[in-house]
Amino acid sequence: MIPFLDLKKINLKYEEAIVEGVKKVLHSGWYVLGEEVRKFEQAFAEYCETKYAIGVANGLDALELIIKAYDIGPGDEVIVPSNTYIASILSVSANGAKPVLVEPDLRTYNIDPHKIEESISPRTKAIMVVHLYGQACNMNPIYEIAKKHNLKIIEDCAQAHGAVYHDIKVGNLGDAAAFSFYPGKNLGALGDAGAITTNDDELYKTIIALRNYGSHRKYENMYKGYNSRLDELQAPILQAKLEQLDSENNTRRDIALYYLNHITNPHIILPFVEYQETSHVWHVFVIRTTNRQDFVDYMGENGVQTMIHYPIAPHKQQAYKEWNGESYELSEKIHSEVVSLPISPVMEMKDVQRVVEVVNEYKPT
Ligand SMILES: *Cc1c(COP(=O)(O)O)cnc(C)c1O
Repeated sequence: MIPFLDLKKINLKYEEAIVEGVKKVLHSGWYVLGEEVRKFEQAFAEYCETKYAIGVANGLDALELIIKAYDIGPGDEVIVPSNTYIASILSVSANGAKPVLVEPDLRTYNIDPHKIEESISPRTKAIMVVHLYGQACNMNPIYEIAKKHNLKIIEDCAQAHGAVYHDIKVGNLGDAAAFSFYPGKNLGALGDAGAITTNDDELYKTIIALRNYGSHRKYENMYKGYNSRLDELQAPILQAKLEQLDSENNTRRDIALYYLNHITNPHIILPFVEYQETSHVWHVFVIRTTNRQDFVDYMGENGVQTMIHYPIAPHKQQAYKEWNGESYELSEKIHSEVVSLPISPVMEMKDVQRVVEVVNEYKPT
């Protein structure tokens, strides 16, 4: 079986650096918010070309803390894509604000900028963009809307570490950005981890306190904060992997280009790259096909593991009964047709070729 993603193989490449990093933390005698987190934050800010990076516990917390720090809560609305992973939307709900869903562009699967303005109300405080599947969103029209209506732009970069839009890295395209270092992401820890990037001094100060019980100084609490800190042990691991991120993204890009150039089956809709090659970092390689279960079964029978990102649209989830009966047709169509093919920085070329062969031989039954 060609695995969808071999995480063990990805991480074993870093075995030496990981063991060394763990030893360094062990011997430092300092286990929370120490030197390793500080060094990683600096390196990650440099990588994203932002003034600040703040390590937090995970990607959902990163989004939630940004919204909290901007004082967005009950009575406020945030524009979010209808086609996204549920965490983007959960971060708005968790703050008591209302997520307002906007449909995607069917070519890129990212939020359609031309549909944002009709969803803005006097209560709208921010637009959350999600660079889904690894592709940077179409930001220029969004900048105009945000400026006109005085809205914050929050980026969900959980799937797009290193992607660029007109030569600017994601994480530096809005007012603040959230990253996840969940193991399966393009930059993944050996557990949960996340970060926030921003150039905003005030926001930086607020989040530094919010992640640490709302406290700047021990036992003095300025806000009703959280305990959401990047684990000291994950920091040196992330630091070692960050050094190889561009090279790993390039390998993903080579595989994606091979798929794009060689998959010719008319029953398969291939992904669309909107800008320069580097605007996509291929967190997942998502195709569409109308008879999805048939295709997934066929791939499995022919030794290729696939995944679905994602099978149920957010507005159809039980957790969001308030959207019961509402329809977001494009999002529903995407959720019923998408399938992700194997792609990873450790995938071998012969396996890539085999996937192409199997996909090209597919005939719907
Ligand atoms: C993974 C992911 C998150 C959440 O990150 P965690 O670290 O798992 O909390 C948020 N948004 C998107 C788009 C994601 O893919």
